[in-house]
Amino acid sequence: MTCKGICIRHRAQKPVGSGRYVSGQRRCQICEIFIKWEGLWCPCCGYRLRTKPRNLKYKAKLRARSRRVEITQPAITVR
Ligand SMILES: [Zn+2]
Ligand SMILES: [Zn+2]
Repeated sequence: MTCKGICIRHRAQKPVGSGRYVSGQRRCQICEIFIKWEGLWCPCCGYRLRTKPRNLKYKAKLRARSRRVEITQPAITVR
């Protein structure tokens, strides 16, 4: 599962006035690109495309990450 450069040909322009997912664009996490593609799978790397924003999960992940930083930071900053 690696980027073969095919996704560039399907690259989606940033829509004006609406979200990317709303206008039918899909996000490939492997290629790190938004593409205009009907299928569920990336035509480039074959990875499952994201069709909906997952704001809640994304925020939860961020929170979990910052919590981990809080735990690990004291150990690093101890002198
Ligand atoms: Zn790609
Ligand atoms: Zn891809």
